[in-house]
Amino acid sequence: ELAAVPLEISGLSKRYHGAADRYAVRDLSFRVERGQVLGLLGPNGAGKTTTMRMLMGLIRPDAGTIRIFGHAIRPGAPVLSRVGAFVEGAGSLPHLTGRANLDLYWRATGRPAEDSHVEEALTIAGLGEALDRAVRTYSQGMRQRLAIAQAMLGMPDLLILDEPTNGLDPPQIREMRAVVTRYAATGRTVIVSSHLLSEVEQSCTHLVVMDKGRLIAAGPVAEISGGGDALFVGAPTA
Ligand code: ATP
Repeated sequence: ELAAVPLEISGLSKRYHGAADRYAVRDLSFRVERGQVLGLLGPNGAGKTTTMRMLMGLIRPDAGTIRIFGHAIRPGAPVLSRVGAFVEGAGSLPHLTGRANLDLYWRATGRPAEDSHVEEALTIAGLGEALDRAVRTYSQGMRQRLAIAQAMLGMPDLLILDEPTNGLDPPQIREMRAVVTRYAATGRTVIVSSHLLSEVEQSCTHLVVMDKGRLIAAGPVAEISGGGDALFVGAPTA
């Protein structure tokens, strides 16, 4: 069970109703080994969010298979308790402290308090004393890191972060990168999506690049990014 591959997807396809013959994700296959930090890269509309939502069991693929630690994924699959997920727009209650928000979230999962590993998750999220302040006083970056801390509760074996740097300024982007690096340093597996190679290449070990629903490149960061050349994916031309 522990030796199983964290993520293996094969022939994954998804078309939304009304989208005629346009696939959001088309015949996508890749795997992620234990301890890897996989960056899922691609421009707007590449299919990153659709892929992430299928991994989380939130939407059902039209074709293909997803195995997480060897178990097939469908909504409510028990193995999803080993997966922590951050999706865009994850909310919190602004008048409560960060810590109270996390506590409330964990209790809603129905799992025992001692399984939350809350202090470890908090240290990795790097929110410090702000945790005891009301969330309404937080910057955008802090709110986003609180949402990430929530995804890290329980220290899941697989952490999935969909565009965690969206809307953040460069210092906050650096903070977010540090959070990913600290989480991965525990030996756990992370998948993080982004528009920009420059945002993820320092924290990722491997990359999967998508465009128009298809995989266009995959491999270790050094191979894909050409040893540090500024490959931009979907960035506006300067
Ligand atoms: P972004 O960076 O903008 O979030 P993305 O790479 O995450 O882009 P997706 O959001 O997965 O891409 O979108 C892939 C394609 O599917 C796009 O053409 C998009 O317009 C379409 N799409 C996404 N969600 C829906 C939906 N609910 N209904 C119809 N089409 C959708």
